[in-house]
Amino acid sequence: MNPSAPIMLESFPQAILHFDGDAFFTSVEQSLHPRYRNKPVVTGAERGIIACASYEAKKLGIKRGVALHEARRICPALIVLPSDYETYSMMSKRMFEIVRRWTPIVEEHSIDEGFADLTGMRRFHRCSYEQMGRDIQAAIGAELGLTVSIGISLSKGLAKLCSKFRKPNGFTAVRGRHIHLFLQRHALKEVWGFGKNTVAFLEKFGLRTAYDFIMQPEKWVAKNLTQTQVEIWHELRGKSIHPVSTEEKTDYATVSKCKTFTAPSADFDFVWAKLVRNLESAFIKLRRHRLKAKQLLVALRFRDYQQAGMEAELNRATSVPAEAIPLLREMFETLFKPGEEYRATMVSLGKISTDRREQLDLFEDRVRIEKLEASARAIDKIAEEFGKHKLTQGSALFLQRHPTTARDEQPWRKTHLLPGETTRQRINLPMFETR
Ligand SMILES: [Mg+2]
Repeated sequence: MNPSAPIMLESFPQAILHFDGDAFFTSVEQSLHPRYRNKPVVTGAERGIIACASYEAKKLGIKRGVALHEARRICPALIVLPSDYETYSMMSKRMFEIVRRWTPIVEEHSIDEGFADLTGMRRFHRCSYEQMGRDIQAAIGAELGLTVSIGISLSKGLAKLCSKFRKPNGFTAVRGRHIHLFLQRHALKEVWGFGKNTVAFLEKFGLRTAYDFIMQPEKWVAKNLTQTQVEIWHELRGKSIHPVSTEEKTDYATVSKCKTFTAPSADFDFVWAKLVRNLESAFIKLRRHRLKAKQLLVALRFRDYQQAGMEAELNRATSVPAEAIPLLREMFETLFKPGEEYRATMVSLGKISTDRREQLDLFEDRVRIEKLEASARAIDKIAEEFGKHKLTQGSALFLQRHPTTARDEQPWRKTHLLPGETTRQRINLPMFETR
């Protein structure tokens, strides 16, 4: 095969744009609060693990997932903020509204990432697809003070590879006749949808780049790989298989519950009871939205505001606390240090999916799982009638050992209200800090 021969001569039989907010959460904070700009900022103060790091922090090696005490050691001047998902999702909505000015076909892939189908809009906007991308990027910058990285190409798979190519504030458009050159610059592991195993498998056959992959005959791909991977093969060759979907998503990245106790406590049973209460609250929220979670993150905050946290995965996605409690206990026993005083516990549920009836694994105890799910439904019914947490795990008895009042670490937006707002009733406008 001749690597300089194009695989397609058309420029844009379809034009799919992918946009991706750069360090979205911290960028929102920096946009709303000018004093944080050009400084290393992270979010995730409430859970002890970094949820998002600004590019200034990333330069110092501080990344998502790093423990806060570790990050503070690397950079003592680090600005650590509590996550303010209410404000982030408000800014996210505005970002998607801006993109919808160019086309109604916009897919919300996640809070800071989306696809837009621009096909056929050139005459309407009287400009090229590339110009539309530049205009969208400029509008988001001017109106929200945020940078996004943009990729434009012939399919979602290609567009996603493009937006990742240059970051932050990147712009990459690849036409049909340049696909082959673009894919030669990407290793297999960069392809959207390829996991470690797929890459390892393809490497056995001497394939290194995304280009090597698409130059394999379709028959070979169909014979040796899964249907999903065959679809990726088509998408990378510029044939759009997955349309941009405008269906609304009820997508929660994570559901977190955090409780601070006013007097710190060294009581093992009490801190455990607090943690279990967090877990119950988080699952109540999940069940309300008919969701399940597979990942569990636990954090304990010490008296001096240092935190210890860890994450682990459940055997299967669930919405029932009883299924997560053995793992929670294991993590708690690892984290809890006797003699230390604690002031807060936090549970965060991740890898969230919709709660569909699914095939149970052969080795899973179907009867037990169904009983647990029925008991969770009963708990929700009782809560509807009598209020939350009237029926709880037995460990809740230990909660009475310690006088507490709720005082979470509050995001700025909750303490600085607009005229007419209460903490429950909000005006749907981001608040820019002015000094
Ligand atoms: Mg992003």
